[in-house]
Amino acid sequence: MFEKVLIANRGEIALRVHRACQEMGIRTVAVHSTADANAMHVRLADESVCIGPPPARDSYLNIPAILSAAAITGADAIHPGYGFLSENAEFASIVEQHGIAFIGPSPDHIRMMGDKIEAKRTMARLGVPLVPGSDGPVDTIEEAEAVARRIGPPVLIKAAAGGGGRGMKVARTIEDVADAFRIARTEAKAAFGNDAVYMEKYLDRPRHIELQVLADTHGNVVHFGERDCSLQRRHQKLVEEAGSPALDAAERDRLGATVTAALREIGYRNAGTLEFLYQDGQFAFIEMNTRLQVEHPVTEMVCGVDLVREQIRIAAGIPLGFGQDEIRFNGHAIECRITAEDPDTFLPTPGKVTTYHAPGGLGVRVDSALYAGYTVPPYYDSLVAKLVVHGADRAMALMRLRRALEEFVIDGIATTLPLHRRIVEDAEFGAGDYTIHWLERFVARGPEPESA
Ligand code: ADP
Repeated sequence: MFEKVLIANRGEIALRVHRACQEMGIRTVAVHSTADANAMHVRLADESVCIGPPPARDSYLNIPAILSAAAITGADAIHPGYGFLSENAEFASIVEQHGIAFIGPSPDHIRMMGDKIEAKRTMARLGVPLVPGSDGPVDTIEEAEAVARRIGPPVLIKAAAGGGGRGMKVARTIEDVADAFRIARTEAKAAFGNDAVYMEKYLDRPRHIELQVLADTHGNVVHFGERDCSLQRRHQKLVEEAGSPALDAAERDRLGATVTAALREIGYRNAGTLEFLYQDGQFAFIEMNTRLQVEHPVTEMVCGVDLVREQIRIAAGIPLGFGQDEIRFNGHAIECRITAEDPDTFLPTPGKVTTYHAPGGLGVRVDSALYAGYTVPPYYDSLVAKLVVHGADRAMALMRLRRALEEFVIDGIATTLPLHRRIVEDAEFGAGDYTIHWLERFVARGPEPESA
């Protein structure tokens, strides 16, 4: 087993990885920008190294600085968390070339799934169902219009290198395709340095359902059931549940069998998530994330597994200690992503947290790097806390979520806590009756006027 793990990340996920390491008797190295000198991940880690100035490209994305930090401290493995370098195949490959274990998939699989066109081709070959769309990249307006005529509008033009919900444009009619195509290409080039785009049928009422998998280096692949991440704003997730209110055990088992067989076939290793749209009883693959996801705790709560611990064990070459039959789905879990954003305008609200009081009690988990007196810097992702609740069933989880949201106090900066308090009171959400378009409409409606 590793003796020292360098955590190439910040915020709650750096803490998450640190905690798993501590429980395994592994020492940790935090890296941080000058803006994060007082951050909780730096305080908790056994050692810390400053790797650069505030902008992420100079610090958390600075590969030479991170490798130097690993060399100086003698770390024998690196966990990338999510975001930053977690899906950078070159980083994974350089880490391995330096004789340090990368806690994640092989560089080849990261590269394969990072190109969404290649990912879809691979999954199609392995018998995983896809959203109807172009067979590969779409290079010209004429081609885009031909695809749109074949699959029928509305269509979605997506960046091959896309991520974080960016680089996507809807064309409602054939006439809209030319403009959408041009804009998508330009945006893709600007955001990802790659203007390759492809097309999909734009589904009007799907749910986003994803499957968590783990694969060891001995050919064992298991899944931990689904997460429903349909509650999104601008294609970004805000609330996630395990399991999905829309899925039964038979459908989960069927999807799980297809996915694990596919990953066994390509020799995948470590953690991964396959994302699907689910509409009219049909699953359609959209992409695979080759890393730990923000919403992994809901799966941990339901399956009673520590996914980060398993990732570390797999990277150390240890076989999975359980088979698919031993994975049980127990009760229901819900996660709220609480961000430092105005709950109405969603403008970022960095600044000093004056009071911080996290909820507790049975079935409540808070993953956060906040503390009273901490200043949320303006340079990074606005996620400041994940509130995760577990209950014997969805109704119990909802009651618990309601009371935990009431208990939660973050003062000094505006957060999305009020929005989450409104969502949990909503009858449609309560009934589990929503699609990926639900939250945008809910947000657009705004809060009910307060009665005098
Ligand atoms: P990213 O990598 O940027 O997150 P995804 O391909 O995972 O992009 O899509 C993000 C979200 O966009 C999905 O969860 C879904 O809400 C929406 N979306 C993606 N593809 C489609 C589609 N074909 N039809 C409707 N919505 C889609």
